Amino acid sequence: MSSILDTYARKAISFTKGKGSYLFAENGDKYLDFVQGIATNILGHCHEHLVNEIQTQSKKLWHVSNAFVIPEQERLAKRLTDNTFADFVCFQNSGTEATEASIKIARKYFHKIGKPEKNRIITFQGAFHGRTLAALFAANNPKHTEGFGPAVDGFDQVPFGDHEAVKKAINKNTAGIMIESLLGEGGLKVVPDFCLKGLRELCDKNDILLILDEVQCGMGRTGSFFAFEKSGITPDIVPIAKGIGGGFPLGACLVTKKVSVGMTAGTHGSTFGGNPLAMAVGNAVLDVIFKKDFLENVKEKGKYFDQGLNKIKNNYPKIIGEIRGIGLIKGLKMLVDNVEFIKKLMNHKMLTVKAEENVIRLFPPLIVENKELDEAINKIEKACKEMS
Ligand SMILES: *Cc1c(COP(=O)(O)O)cnc(C)c1O
Repeated sequence: MSSILDTYARKAISFTKGKGSYLFAENGDKYLDFVQGIATNILGHCHEHLVNEIQTQSKKLWHVSNAFVIPEQERLAKRLTDNTFADFVCFQNSGTEATEASIKIARKYFHKIGKPEKNRIITFQGAFHGRTLAALFAANNPKHTEGFGPAVDGFDQVPFGDHEAVKKAINKNTAGIMIESLLGEGGLKVVPDFCLKGLRELCDKNDILLILDEVQCGMGRTGSFFAFEKSGITPDIVPIAKGIGGGFPLGACLVTKKVSVGMTAGTHGSTFGGNPLAMAVGNAVLDVIFKKDFLENVKEKGKYFDQGLNKIKNNYPKIIGEIRGIGLIKGLKMLVDNVEFIKKLMNHKMLTVKAEENVIRLFPPLIVENKELDEAINKIEKACKEMS
């Protein structure tokens, strides 16, 4: 019997090593890994540059307190702000901490400018923002919140895609709107550009902040650094995590100068957040993602993958209902049981992960090769055949 608290429905398989798009099980079986730690190993397993950088840093310095200047942290923050909407960054260790920091920063901003009554955040049904208490009740998924009350107050939830409901929910106490630019756990649902624009307009009109949770969809997954970029809007606060660490626990919250004003010395902190070891990995991930044409290439591969997936969908219209997603973050809306299908794929040595709405998520690493995408298409097609 395991001594681990039983909070996961784990599959009875363990892996001993990984390389790029592949994982190797204890018995030597080779799996095509399109889970990648749930969109986390953004450059695949054991990317050579990441391995080198973490090794080098591990011999110099692992951890120092944020009571001191950490040059590696200064560098990663500068690179993130130079290349995005943000003016400042604070480092955390996970996605949920990054979303919590976002909520804190939004509230503190209005407190600082003398409008402390503006402290509520509008969120959306089907959202996922993490498992700490505030993030949990922000998303308010009954499957996750049951038994964990009393509920954390400060959130007003509206149905996904209902612009009128958002409008109605805004009142004198509203501080912000928080939404994932692309709902991951909620079923791989892209928020259309016109919706993001609409939300930005509502925020501007009502003097409230737009928080875009890019923990899952950011860091180049969609073929642009942030998923929201193609909409042309600018958010106020963006939490990131997953991909930025390439598999090392790392999160961050990116903010504009305007909303940063409340966050002065002592208002927020993290023992581990931004330590030199984590920063070495974060910087190494950016070395690769910021390379010329890297993101263009992600877009190309996304299109290539789309073609293959659409072909299967057309051949098996009773099995796959819809292809969702952009770039290399894809969802298959299944017309058969998604869990059954995931099992079939596993028999064919391919790993995928489910989402709400009977969806299967596919997260190839951004360094995936076309022949590996072909292999995925092949395996998905085989599983379709078996289920028809
Ligand atoms: C995974 C995820 C989180 C939580 O991240 P953790 O690192 O598990 O705390 C928050 N928001 C979104 C959109 C996520 O996908």
